[in-house]
Amino acid sequence: MNFYLDLHTHTLVSGHAYSTLTENCHYAKKIGLAVLGTSEHAPSMPGTCHEYYFSNLRILPSHIEGQRLLKGVELNIMGQDGSIDLDDRICEELDYCIASIHSPCFYSKDAKVNTDAYINAMKKSFVKIIGHPDDSRVPIELERFVLSCKEYGVLPEINNSSIASTSFRVGAFDNVCMLLELCKKYEVDVIFGSDAHYCELIGNFENCMRAVQKVDFPLEQVVNTNPLKIKKYFKIEVE
Ligand SMILES: [Zn+2]
Ligand SMILES: [Zn+2]
Repeated sequence: MNFYLDLHTHTLVSGHAYSTLTENCHYAKKIGLAVLGTSEHAPSMPGTCHEYYFSNLRILPSHIEGQRLLKGVELNIMGQDGSIDLDDRICEELDYCIASIHSPCFYSKDAKVNTDAYINAMKKSFVKIIGHPDDSRVPIELERFVLSCKEYGVLPEINNSSIASTSFRVGAFDNVCMLLELCKKYEVDVIFGSDAHYCELIGNFENCMRAVQKVDFPLEQVVNTNPLKIKKYFKIEVE
């Protein structure tokens, strides 16, 4: 299986990751990834970088170590209204934005509140991906969530790290399988993300594939494998 891209990766500047951007690019090139996306945690996450980091991404070249690079961010959803923690103008200049719920920034046990938060974030045109909607500690109304992804053209992420044995997220494998079942039923595309916090975890989608195989999810709906869908969602060509 050829996975063309991985858009959910972190570097040292996120504060709890362990490789540099150059090391990430070097590894991505080595494993033959067509496109690497870098997506540090936005400023409300404890230990991460300042907003200047994101506005200054414009100085980076489009290729590092010969690796095609997209410049993104993993935004924090800050409340039920879907507000996020980086200026809209900065978000609009980036290649893509992931929006996620992280408990240090926003926390609710109420599935309606969490679903409202995700859907309100989806309404922002620069939000292309909802990160790891798979944690039983952050319950959601799954069917309403999936139908909204379809309505707003936003990709739910199948997060490889959530399903890993080292994950602190709860119930992720079962939640991902339920999510994939509904995405299959309603023909909603999904994206795999490694959520790598170390370079050698980039492009590793083994756990995502276990879930896909369990529910017999159609691989053409996995954007990472499908050049036409990559072009549709991210306006880039891959070979
Ligand atoms: Zn992180
Ligand atoms: Zn995250």
